[in-house]
Amino acid sequence: MKEIYTLADLKIWKKSAKHSIRLGVFGDPVAHSLSPQMQNAALQACKIDMQYARFQIGPNELKEALDLIAQNDFIGVNLTVPHKVAALDLIDDADDNAKRIGAVNTVQIENGKLRGFNTDGKGFARAIREEFSVDLRDMRVLLLGAGGAARAIALQCAREHCERLVIANRTFGKAKQLVDELRGFFSGPRVLGPVPRLQAVPWEEEAFRFQVANVDLVVNATPIGLTNGDASPVSARLLEPHLMIHDTVYASDRRTPFVRAALEAGARCASGLSMLLHQGALAFEIWFQREAPIDAMRHALGES
Ligand code: NDP
Repeated sequence: MKEIYTLADLKIWKKSAKHSIRLGVFGDPVAHSLSPQMQNAALQACKIDMQYARFQIGPNELKEALDLIAQNDFIGVNLTVPHKVAALDLIDDADDNAKRIGAVNTVQIENGKLRGFNTDGKGFARAIREEFSVDLRDMRVLLLGAGGAARAIALQCAREHCERLVIANRTFGKAKQLVDELRGFFSGPRVLGPVPRLQAVPWEEEAFRFQVANVDLVVNATPIGLTNGDASPVSARLLEPHLMIHDTVYASDRRTPFVRAALEAGARCASGLSMLLHQGALAFEIWFQREAPIDAMRHALGES
C-alpha cells in the first residue's frame, strides 16, 4: 500500500492488482491525516478484510475522484479540507443533517450511488464532553471559522442549546450568513446582559479580546496550525486561564500552535485528536452498520 494515492491511481484502479483498499480519505493536503491508522485499526479489530488509504485530491479533481470510487466498489470515503462543502453538489443525495450543515464529511456508496453524511458535529460534542467533562449546553462558545467543520460545530452548539455562540471568520459575510441561518435556535427568552446570545464578529484582535472575556470555550475550526510555521489563530496574550480551548487541528504530539498558546495562557486545552476519533467512529458505523471498536481506534491514535 502506498502512503498517498492520487487521481491518476484511481483512473487505473481496476487494471492494477486487486485492491483490498475499499475506503479512504480525500483531502488537499492529506499527508497529515491520521484517519488511515485509526480506521485500519478498526477494520483489523473487526476482522474486516479491507484497507483505508489517503488520497491527495485537488479541488478540481473531486468530482472525477468521487465518480471513480463509485465505479470501483468502494464502501465509502471521508472528506477533509477543502472538499466538505463542494461535495454536497457532487453526490447523489445527502441526509438531512448534512444538507442542513451544508457540508459532507462521510460518503457511503450504495448500489453505485454516493450518499453524504456529516459526523463532525456529533463527534465534536462527544470530544468536548470527553476532554472537559462538560456539555455544550450552557457553554458560551467563540467559534473561529465558517467553513465545513465550523458549520457542523455551530449547528451542534445550536441544537444543544449552548448559552452563547459567537462566530468569527476571515470572510465576515460567511460568519454573518451562518449566524442568520441559526437565529431560530437562539430566539428564546434567555437574557445574558449586554452581550448578544448569537453574533458574528470580524476576524480582528479587538473583537477577540472583547469576546474572550465573555465566553468559556474557544474553538479553532480553521486550518491554521496545519502548516509548519503557522502561528496560533489567537495569540497567547489574548487568551485567559478561565478558557477551554479546542483546536480541531491535530498533531500527533497534540501540541498545535493554538494548544501551545493555550498552555502559555494557563487555559485548559485539547487538540483535534478526540474529535477525529469520534467523528471517525460515527463514520465507521455508517459504513458497516455496527458499533465501532472505539478502544482500538483510540489506541491507534496513541490516545489510550
Ligand atoms: P474549509 O476549507 O471548509 O473552511 C476553512 C475555514 O477556515 C474558513 O472559514 C476559512 O475562512 C478559514 N481560514 C482558512 N485559512 C485561514 C487563514 N489563513 N486565516 C483565517 N481563516 C482562515 O475547511 P474545513 O472546515 O473542512 O476544515 C477546517 C479545519 O478543521 C481543518 O484544519 C481540518 O483539519 C479541521 N477538522 C478537524 C476535524 C477533526 O476531526 N479533528 C474534523 C473536521 C475538520 P474564509 O471563509 O475566509 O475562507
